[in-house]
Amino acid sequence: MAVPGTKRDYYEVLGLSRDASPEQIKKAYRRLAHKYHPDRNREDPDAETKFKEAAEAFEVLSDPGKRQRYDQFGHAGLSGVGVHDFSHMGVDDIFSMFDDIFGGAFGFGGRRHRRGADLQTEVELTLTEVLTGAERSIQFARQDFCDTCGGTGAAPGSQQQTCRTCGGYGQVEQAGGFLFGRVITACPACQGRGSVVVTPCKACRGTRRAMKERVVTVKIPAGVHDGQAVRIRGEGEAGEDGTQRGDLHCYVRVKPHPFLERHNNDLVCRMPISFTQAALGANVEVPTLSGKAELKIPRGTQHGQLFRLNGLGLPDIRNARRGDELVQVIVEIPKKLDSEQERLLRQFAVTEDKSVMPESKRFFDKLMEYLSGSSED
Ligand SMILES: [Zn+2]
Ligand SMILES: [Zn+2]
Repeated sequence: MAVPGTKRDYYEVLGLSRDASPEQIKKAYRRLAHKYHPDRNREDPDAETKFKEAAEAFEVLSDPGKRQRYDQFGHAGLSGVGVHDFSHMGVDDIFSMFDDIFGGAFGFGGRRHRRGADLQTEVELTLTEVLTGAERSIQFARQDFCDTCGGTGAAPGSQQQTCRTCGGYGQVEQAGGFLFGRVITACPACQGRGSVVVTPCKACRGTRRAMKERVVTVKIPAGVHDGQAVRIRGEGEAGEDGTQRGDLHCYVRVKPHPFLERHNNDLVCRMPISFTQAALGANVEVPTLSGKAELKIPRGTQHGQLFRLNGLGLPDIRNARRGDELVQVIVEIPKKLDSEQERLLRQFAVTEDKSVMPESKRFFDKLMEYLSGSSED
């Protein structure tokens, strides 16, 4: 790996002499880009660095203006002329960048790489994991390039033959009729590869592909919502010739919680209390995502009343600000009473006649009016 701050000579990187032609520069870069493509060099941590080094050398030497400055002043001549910082770019981005330079024909003359297919998978999270964020190992099978032949389709050690139809250019000229004159298309004999396989690889029978098991670790951010997907770039299926992988989309399912229901970033808990707790007030324990919290139920609490526990909800996926937990009180009326309870309640009922509750009074007043026909409308 290159020492930070020092840069190798661009001609040296591409293995060229200073008088190399634009065609030679293109060729040298194509060769290195494929040789060091990280998808093909998973065991070699230096491959990506070399891949990016080659991309930078190519960017400069393929541009006449930049090349001239470099020839005259070396690396120092390039500050401020807009050479990309490849160390911070994704490999696929670099590929698609030069794909344009090659007029959509990067790689094997005349051939546009088709990006590999995206894959989908699902992970299940508990609400508690939504609170903290989670990491999951996902194992799956995907179409990949064949290891035995390195994705060439040719038996190891066998030679590929230059395509006779296109002479290795990957492109052929066809008479395109009277309006268009000559039309250049990818060679039909070699599909634009420029070479043909003579002895097909036994492992993939020349298809260049094989199913492979893969394990990736996905980081799922805190606050994620059911149905959202985390995209893992470049973990889909291999593109043609092993480049331009698709993405893996990891869909999140959130398991229902036994006590808490999610409403955006708030959580709602339906909390049963007895009618005596509601009438007399009580301290109760309510379930929260991280355990439990104490809630003071004031005297005279009504059925359905809401209490807010600030900041005990879920974090917002963008700004991590937490929502609240809302506790809705469900007042339970006993279905069975023992004789002592019944005696006390009947006694209570007698006292109720004297001190009528305001809500009930209004209701009974209205009912009496209604029954006597004085407020028909
Ligand atoms: Zn193979
Ligand atoms: Zn051909």
